[in-house]
Amino acid sequence: MIDSPGSIMSLMGCAVWLPISVWVFSLISWSIMGEIDAGIGLLGAALGIVVGVAIMLQPNEQLTPLLLLAVFSMVATFPALRSYHTKREFARLDIQAMENAYEQLSLRPGNLGATMRIARIAYQRGWVAHAVAIAEPTLSQYPQVVVADDLREMRAWKNQLEPHHHHPMTCLECSSSNPPGQLWCKGCRAPILLDHARGAWLGTSSARRLVAAWLAGVASLVGIPLAASLLPGPIAAVFVVLFLALSAGVLWWAFRTNRRLASKS
Ligand SMILES: [Zn+2]
Repeated sequence: MIDSPGSIMSLMGCAVWLPISVWVFSLISWSIMGEIDAGIGLLGAALGIVVGVAIMLQPNEQLTPLLLLAVFSMVATFPALRSYHTKREFARLDIQAMENAYEQLSLRPGNLGATMRIARIAYQRGWVAHAVAIAEPTLSQYPQVVVADDLREMRAWKNQLEPHHHHPMTCLECSSSNPPGQLWCKGCRAPILLDHARGAWLGTSSARRLVAAWLAGVASLVGIPLAASLLPGPIAAVFVVLFLALSAGVLWWAFRTNRRLASKS
């Protein structure tokens, strides 16, 4: 009812716990699984709980729009976080499959199944020329009838080749340039496609950055005014400095460049 804003607020106070609990549960489980940095995940979860408690207790009505904005932005980031999570899950499975295939190939070079598995993953990652150049020589060693399906698949990749696919791949270990078709770096024998698959996985820091941006935004836009309005002067000042340091630290951590990959790619 319009004349009782208190009851509307308490209704809202209950409703916000639904997105907050999904947020907290997801961040904690992703932190445990190593999907995002545990520090950022747990801070994000803790801040989500603080926002929920603040909405329920309403210590300062002027802050309510900011608190609701914090919950709204939490809901808004969620579809993107979910899709990053799914992509990383697929990438992780790809890397496992590639590791196994590389192991098989180091024992039995030319193994058809292992070669095709690596070629397929390479194709899915957009390394089309590399996929073709890896599959073709191995397939040519078998009678066409035996590998008919694999041949059809490889020809379909071939039809999609574009000039930019032919770029060589730079080794992440020794910086040698490897033309399509190299499974092992010609400079240092590193498993070059596997290294690149791992590199892309490590480089997928979008989820961490999104959570960090949310954390920093909420800590400074909501945490600072909340501390300032609730706590006595000197303690509030300490919290304001803490929140500012937290925001800056989290942003620095999430957006710093990965030096290993940046210097070697
Ligand atoms: Zn190398």
